Amino acid sequence: MPINLLIVIRQVHGTETPWCCKVCGKQFKLKTNWMEHQKTHENDKLFSCDLCGAGFKSSQSLKRHTGQVHEGKKRKQYPKKRNVNCDD
Ligand SMILES: [Zn+2]
Ligand SMILES: [Zn+2]
Repeated sequence: MPINLLIVIRQVHGTETPWCCKVCGKQFKLKTNWMEHQKTHENDKLFSCDLCGAGFKSSQSLKRHTGQVHEGKKRKQYPKKRNVNCDD
């Protein structure tokens, strides 16, 4: 069996499979660590609401949010999310 194929099999089935963060490319051996790490990117959303700081992945979501939450209603104060730093 070619060595390359052995490596692939190890990566697919072994415990050494690195979980790769799609946001920053960081790799983790354990899924739990990877999942914990994903939380550090929760505030990395591209579109953020100027009024309450909520983050959204698309401008449409932000527009919908602005319409639903901030327009035509009394402005509601949302507590800002705390940025929790996680050491993997
Ligand atoms: Zn990351
Ligand atoms: Zn808002």
